Amino acid sequence: MKAAILYEINQPLKVEAIEIPRPATNEILVKIKAVGVCHTDLHPIKGDIPVPLPIVLGHEGAGIVEEIGEGVTTVQPGDHVVLFPAPACGRCICCATGQPYLCMVAGPLLFAGTMMDGTKRLKTPDGKELNSFFLQSSFAEYSVVHETAAIKVDKDLPIEKMAAFSCGMSTGLGMVRNTAKVVPGSRVAIFGCGGVGLMAMWSAKLVPASMIIGVDKIAGKLDMAKEFGATHVIDASREDPVEKIIELTGGGADYSFECIGNVKAMEQACSAVHPGGMTVIAGAAGADEKVCIEALPFVTGNIVMGTVGGSTIPSVDIPKNIELYKKGLLPLDKFISRTYALEEINQAFEAMQKGEVARSIVVMD
Ligand SMILES: [Zn+2]
Ligand SMILES: [Zn+2]
Repeated sequence: MKAAILYEINQPLKVEAIEIPRPATNEILVKIKAVGVCHTDLHPIKGDIPVPLPIVLGHEGAGIVEEIGEGVTTVQPGDHVVLFPAPACGRCICCATGQPYLCMVAGPLLFAGTMMDGTKRLKTPDGKELNSFFLQSSFAEYSVVHETAAIKVDKDLPIEKMAAFSCGMSTGLGMVRNTAKVVPGSRVAIFGCGGVGLMAMWSAKLVPASMIIGVDKIAGKLDMAKEFGATHVIDASREDPVEKIIELTGGGADYSFECIGNVKAMEQACSAVHPGGMTVIAGAAGADEKVCIEALPFVTGNIVMGTVGGSTIPSVDIPKNIELYKKGLLPLDKFISRTYALEEINQAFEAMQKGEVARSIVVMD
């Protein structure tokens, strides 16, 4: 099978033939039909999230179950599945308290190169081991995943579009609906109009929020924001977003969301809410970075919280999001800006870095 391999940081991925992996106990082999291209895949390419090399990236796959390993009960060969980035052990304290997206067994392994049991699945035709990413590695024609990462979807849905439901869309929709629990009529400010930010806007529009302010520095992204529900946009390269948000809302937003991973934007998001407002940080900053925010708003009851994947419980939220799509309530075709073949994957990363796309999808034959 073909897979896109990262051999060295800051180098293009190389599409090469590797062995089709075998599913171990509780794992399934999936023929990948499509996979989303996400910023989280870019971090290891840039070297700002260290991973063992060489590695096959990709964590937003969708496809058809080809084979099941021992002990698998939730899916059968032929089932269509969306692959969520993180599997769950079902037994750790986070899984047991209803937060499988924080699984303490899977979490430390996401960037470790292995599967859930600590062993590796991928190798080259001459037997050299390759590392896995997010226990998935779906920039490939086949992927082995833990069965808890696979969410069954109806066979009449277009499977190549279902990859969009994996990560970016779930995070954006979930951070508004699950993490912040935004109430109707709210005034919402969203920093970062990439895939996650755009879906957060759409989620706020569905609530519905009464004012949705999109903040970015790239004009093309602000244009996209208007299509995803922004009632106002602020070009942060031209004006101070905090001052403008306070002016537009008459005192500060009820909720602000940071969807970039930029420390300055996190600080601005915290300053953009009124006393008692809530700020949710979804972006991942560098490991050594620190946020500096005013201390006084804590005594006015301001809430600052993080989110992992929009607190998405895959078996609950992905079917809910697909229901929204089936009812015509999700702009999926607008969200999937471009499709690429696996051989064109480096172009997809270039388009992402230029801010040209909401989400690119790599489609396999
Ligand atoms: Zn992702
Ligand atoms: Zn767990």
